[in-house]
Amino acid sequence: MGMDSDLFCEGLVRRFGANAAVDHISLDVPAGTFFSILGPSGCGKTTLLRLLAGFDKPDEGEIHIRGQRMNDVPPNRRPVNMVFQHLALFPTMSVGDNIGYGLKRRKVTLAERRKRIARVLEQVGLPGLENRDPQELSGGQRQRVALARCLVLEPTLLLLDEPLGALDLKLREQMKVELKHLQKQFGTTFVYITHDQSEAMVMSDRVAVMRDGRFDQVAPPEELYREPATPFVAGFVGDNNRLSGALVAIRDNLAEIRLDDGALVQGRVVAGELEIGQRAELFIRPESLVLSADRVGPGLSVMEAKVRTTLFDGANSRLEAENGSRLVYARLPQDGSAPRLPPGSAIGLAWDPALARVFGAENP
Ligand code: ATP
Repeated sequence: MGMDSDLFCEGLVRRFGANAAVDHISLDVPAGTFFSILGPSGCGKTTLLRLLAGFDKPDEGEIHIRGQRMNDVPPNRRPVNMVFQHLALFPTMSVGDNIGYGLKRRKVTLAERRKRIARVLEQVGLPGLENRDPQELSGGQRQRVALARCLVLEPTLLLLDEPLGALDLKLREQMKVELKHLQKQFGTTFVYITHDQSEAMVMSDRVAVMRDGRFDQVAPPEELYREPATPFVAGFVGDNNRLSGALVAIRDNLAEIRLDDGALVQGRVVAGELEIGQRAELFIRPESLVLSADRVGPGLSVMEAKVRTTLFDGANSRLEAENGSRLVYARLPQDGSAPRLPPGSAIGLAWDPALARVFGAENP
């Protein structure tokens, strides 16, 4: 880790007028990592990627790739390739010529080019397709050719700018898994930007959640899910119920909250500096809620709710209920053992406080 990592950045800033699109970002990406930058539209992902590629220069900060300072190195001299959302294969060139284009520009001999093109086509699961026209390929195959075209150059870093964004839903699901496999197979370090939390979660070794030019949290997907560091991460990554109330007490990292409907409940506190009496928010995942009639036990928190609807959808079956003006979602038992709950039924929803996260309310 550190200066010798495949990618190491410190204090990167890029301003447009008074607005910093990238606002003091530091990163450390060890070799072989699938690293995603996840954030909503406009948070600065593309700006950051352009700094890494060298298409744009930071106002402040350092960029190092495998220990070499890159700040003054032009894009074509960086050991970096980029895959864009609209992957422009050359339509008049065969698949093989598309893949060999970069090698040819690097003056690699014809014999060597042929060998490497054949090998990379095999690696991306398209053996022997050298002579095809790109138009004869499916969307997924074109995507793989575009990747092969970058990977054949053996970059230290492959930067990917929402490469699945233009694909239809089914193909996108399939490509998520394939991209993850390909990344591990090649061992190339990927820096992948997306606003799709499911893409980031499924594929990545580490994810940086970005908001307003900054990283809220950088962690493996499981940790983002279980231990979100901020209310933004808790709300952005995976489904979460969000309840609000006033902080009554804190004991052993457990906060006691008086919800707006009067219920006294508990959740785990992460960030310090909470004051008794202040507004607080409690996040609890749908799968962490159980019908309290099924499981009442000491130490569980319970809230009253009114059933709005139950939705049968196999393993995704769920219950929508109202707690005051808040909608809450709970997973239903997958074996269909949940009792029939007509709309309007009064129920209790219970949870283990260790699974809930409490933060001070951001906008009191
Ligand atoms: P999206 O997912 O929609 O592509 P993004 O996270 O990639 O969004 P950026 O495109 O990096 O976001 O933009 C971040 C902020 O910087 C935005 O407020 C944008 O308007 C601003 N910005 C980006 N490029 C420029 C530019 N060349 N001149 C002025 N402002 C810019």
